[in-house]
Amino acid sequence: MASPALGFIGLGVMGYPMAVNLLKKLETRTKLHVYDVSSQVLDNFEQEAPNLVSICSSAREVTERSDVVFTIVPEGKHVRAVYLDEADGVLSVEIDNKILVDCSTIDTTTSIDVHEAISKKSATASFYDAPVSGGSLGAAAATLTFMLGCNYDDPNLPLLKGLLGAMGSSIFPCGGFSLGLTAKLCNNYCSGLIAIATAEAFNIGIKSGMDPLMLARVFTTSTAQSTINDKWNPVPGVCPNSPASKDYQGGFKVPLMKKDFNLAVEMAKRVGAQVRLGESGLAVYEESSEDAECRDRDSRVVFRYIGGDEDWKEKLGL
Ligand code: NAD
Repeated sequence: MASPALGFIGLGVMGYPMAVNLLKKLETRTKLHVYDVSSQVLDNFEQEAPNLVSICSSAREVTERSDVVFTIVPEGKHVRAVYLDEADGVLSVEIDNKILVDCSTIDTTTSIDVHEAISKKSATASFYDAPVSGGSLGAAAATLTFMLGCNYDDPNLPLLKGLLGAMGSSIFPCGGFSLGLTAKLCNNYCSGLIAIATAEAFNIGIKSGMDPLMLARVFTTSTAQSTINDKWNPVPGVCPNSPASKDYQGGFKVPLMKKDFNLAVEMAKRVGAQVRLGESGLAVYEESSEDAECRDRDSRVVFRYIGGDEDWKEKLGL
C-alpha cells in the first residue's frame, strides 16, 4: 500500500486537528474521506481544503472509499455505532485488506467486541486500538503520543508509523491488541491520582503557611517530582501557563478524566488487580464533575474542589 486512500471519522476537539494534519502533511494524491454526525463540522472541515476533502454521508461510505480508516469518537457506544451499525457502519461493507484504526479512549471490552466482529467478517482486515495523549494542543501541533495496540513486529507497523507520524511525535506499539487502551487507561489512572495527591499536599502546605512556589521547587528535585507538579500544577499561580493559572480553563476537562478514571477502575476489576485508591479517586472526579465551579474545567481543578486557598498570596501576605 504505497499511497493508501485515507478516511477519517469523528471530527471533534481531537479528530478535527488530527485530520487537518493528515491533510497538510501527507499531501494525499487522493482525497481524504471524512464523516461526522454533525453536518456543521463537516461544512467547516471542507473549507480547510475543498479540493482535498471528500465529505461522506456515513461511516459506511468512508470505508467503501478508503484503504485505511481512522476513527475517534467519545465513548464505547459511539464506537459500536460507527463500526457495527448494520445499515451504515464500517462493517456494513466489504472490508478485506482494509486497515481500521480506532483512536478513541474507550473500554477494552467494546474494543475487543469490535475486533472480534471484524475478524469474523474478514480474515484480511486489520483493526487497531490507538488511543492518544497530548490533548487538543498536541493534536493541533501534531505532537500526540499514540499507544498502538499491536505486536512489535506487526507487518503494518511501518505504514501505521508513517500515517500516525503526521499527527503525532511518539508512536508506541504496546505489544498486542487492546494493550494500547491498557496503556492509556493506566496512564490516566496514575496521572489522575498524582493530580489529587499533589493538590492535597499543596493544600496542607499552604494552610501550614508554606509558599507554594517554594514547595513546587522542593518537589521538583525531590521524590514528589512529577509532570503534574512541574507543568500542570493544580495551584493557581505556580505554573504561569497552566490551566490552573487561567481559572482552570482549557486542559483536560473533569468529565473526560472521570470517564477515563472509571474505565481504568473497571478494567482493574475485570483483570482482578487490587486498586486501593481507585474508588476514592473516582469519587473525587465524579463529585467535582457535578460541582458548578469545577465541571467543564481542567481536571486539576481538584485543588479548588477540596477547598484549596486560590488566594494564597493574600493569605500568606506575599
Ligand atoms: P468530541 O466530543 O469533541 O468529538 C467527538 C466527535 O465525534 C464529534 O464531532 C461528534 O459529532 C462525533 N461523533 C459522535 N458519534 C459519532 C458517530 N456515530 N459517527 C460519526 N461521528 C460521531 O470528543 P474529543 O474530545 O475529540 O474526544 C474523542 C476521544 O478522544 C474520546 O474518547 C476522548 O476520551 C479522547 N481524548 C480526548 C482528549 C481531549 O483532550 N479532548 C485527549 C485525549 C484523548
